[in-house]
Amino acid sequence: LLYEKSDCENQAEEFDYENAKILGIDYAMHGMAVFSEDIQKENEGYFRKSEERLAREQRKLSHCVKGSNNYYRQKKRVALCHEKIRSQRKDFLHKLSHEIAEAYDVVAVEDIDMKAMSQCMHFGKSVMDNGYGKFRELLEYKLTWRGKKLVRVDRFFPSSKKCCKCGNIKKELKLSDRVYLCTCGNRIDRDLNAAINIREEARRMLLAG
Ligand SMILES: [Zn+2]
Repeated sequence: LLYEKSDCENQAEEFDYENAKILGIDYAMHGMAVFSEDIQKENEGYFRKSEERLAREQRKLSHCVKGSNNYYRQKKRVALCHEKIRSQRKDFLHKLSHEIAEAYDVVAVEDIDMKAMSQCMHFGKSVMDNGYGKFRELLEYKLTWRGKKLVRVDRFFPSSKKCCKCGNIKKELKLSDRVYLCTCGNRIDRDLNAAINIREEARRMLLAG
């Protein structure tokens, strides 16, 4: 048993984090998450058909006389649409987390408490509904199962304000600034910049031990 343990330790020490495949993930209120690499996302349009159907059925419901038979029948249809979207979303999160856990050695996320965040920001519904918390949970489970790692980057790490090219840290960045502009010439999507910073911060942490 001792032998096995030291073998394991050697392996861990030798792991080449300098060149490890690390995926950085930045939480996004809309669209759930932004990745530091081009991840093939089939979710574009994945739920669109179901959501269009839901909107249609909800419109019909609004025209039904409350309490009528039609009303109850229509209400049931709306509920079924919700159910379908829920299960499609769950399915999608499982697939995506599986693919990532297969393809990457390490996944880096911000150490944010989703529950506290939704409460303090009063965004409750959208934060909880976009599935990010569940996604992170699935990722951690699937990575650990493969002997890989989910790394949490400190929540005070300035992932949004830092320039991913030159490391300069902006004093101010408004939520409405969707593009990160730096004096070094870097011009990049705000969330992509953050995701890359999260990835590199995780690499730094792993190399530091
Ligand atoms: Zn810069």
